[in-house]
Amino acid sequence: MTAIDSARAIIEAALSEFGGSLAVLTSFQREGIVVADLALQADPGIPVMTIDTGRLPESTLKIISSFEDRYGVAVERILPDPFEVNAMIEAHGRDLFYDDVALRRLCCNVRKVRPLARRMAGVEAYLTGIRRGQSDSRANVEFFDRAGSPVKISPLADWLPADVASYTRERGLPEHPLYAAGYTSIGCDPCTRAGVAGEDERAGRWWWENDAAKECGLHFTADGKTERTVDVLLRDILTKAHV
Ligand code: SF4
Repeated sequence: MTAIDSARAIIEAALSEFGGSLAVLTSFQREGIVVADLALQADPGIPVMTIDTGRLPESTLKIISSFEDRYGVAVERILPDPFEVNAMIEAHGRDLFYDDVALRRLCCNVRKVRPLARRMAGVEAYLTGIRRGQSDSRANVEFFDRAGSPVKISPLADWLPADVASYTRERGLPEHPLYAAGYTSIGCDPCTRAGVAGEDERAGRWWWENDAAKECGLHFTADGKTERTVDVLLRDILTKAHV
């Protein structure tokens, strides 16, 4: 079975299991566009969602618009709670993520993890573009991750970069312009830089953190000590945001 056939079979299985309670979650990197393209072929009505943290590069916002034009769909933007964002900025500044890993995780929690958790409350499963080869922390990603709720499905888990590139080329899919500028993984504007030859694909994310896993907490959590520190910081923000 080819990589494409395998991904199609996984998406078909997901649709038959979860039907109308399945969504695509994409950040409009290459893999996310491939998954959305495959899913929309299988079900043109499947919801496509993205997390708009408020710190995305302008080029990401443009590629979302061009994706909507191409497919004739409205991408749902999942937004952070403005009260939580304001409380965080008042307490720690807008660019708090450069100060230490726990503050960076706090920002990812407020701008990504919490908004997604709120939105996913009524969703049983979602499709992602995660590949095992993207980093060590993703090396054991399963096609169907049923450990939490919603179920996370990664039809491209076993794809190689060449599979993504050839599918993108053959389908004439839009490509994020930052790839042409040397980026190998694209997230929020202040937290992403171009890759350097020989680096892990996600090394350009939070590049100033030498030892931390290059994850925002959507797919993998931090070590216990960082998690506890983030919990304390988050409690403080939530108290201020919802008084
Ligand atoms: S990637 Fe950076 S700006 Fe985006 S949510 Fe995480 S810490 Fe905040």
